[in-house]
Amino acid sequence: MLSAYAGNILVLTAPSGAGKTTLARMLIEHYPQCQLSISHTTRQPRPGEVHGKDYYFVELEEFLSMVQQGRFLEYATVHGNYYGTSYDYLYRAMDQGANVILDIDYQGAFQLKSKIPEAILVFILPPSIETLEERLGGRGKDNDDTIKLRMENACREILTYNRFDYVLVNHDLNKAYNELSAILTARELRKNSQRDLKELADINITPAKE
Ligand code: 5GP
Repeated sequence: MLSAYAGNILVLTAPSGAGKTTLARMLIEHYPQCQLSISHTTRQPRPGEVHGKDYYFVELEEFLSMVQQGRFLEYATVHGNYYGTSYDYLYRAMDQGANVILDIDYQGAFQLKSKIPEAILVFILPPSIETLEERLGGRGKDNDDTIKLRMENACREILTYNRFDYVLVNHDLNKAYNELSAILTARELRKNSQRDLKELADINITPAKE
């Protein structure tokens, strides 16, 4: 059952180029109990991307068959390709007690929140549209048409920011990382996500006699 999970689900959504992948990787580095979710996608692998590490790269037929079998917790079409988070993957990670970080788009974020209200949704904004355009062009991963499509999608995505639990602006990577880390730490410290007091600290309180 998903509601009985031990870890937390942290969803990071941002237009491509806002720095979300870097921030997710920084969290994983600093928090050993955090695990980055691996999605399925019909997109072609980019040079250097590895099946089972960056994504599960699958053919369209396989993806659609998984949709029909109800195997996705959420899925969406992003920039013309399908992407989805499988129940199998999430259950496995949760069973290991991991805090799972999901780098998914806003459509997936809202589907997930409707199924798992405890999930934390964080929207990451770039400092400006100009910075976003520069970052997309500068990373050299995509051609001009792809950059144009990603910019159009970015504007649509940004308009949904006020439906997220938290919004942060990535002016400065370290500051944004500290803010993200504070969100996760605050959730971990929530009373109902902690174990018994005895397990947390060496404190033995005997109730006062009447
Ligand atoms: P990219 O192709 O650059 O790796 O990812 C493109 C977009 O797809 C990103 O905004 C990323 O957050 C989103 N994305 C990646 N995996 C998933 C997923 O499983 N579900 C959804 N809804 N979006 C995803």
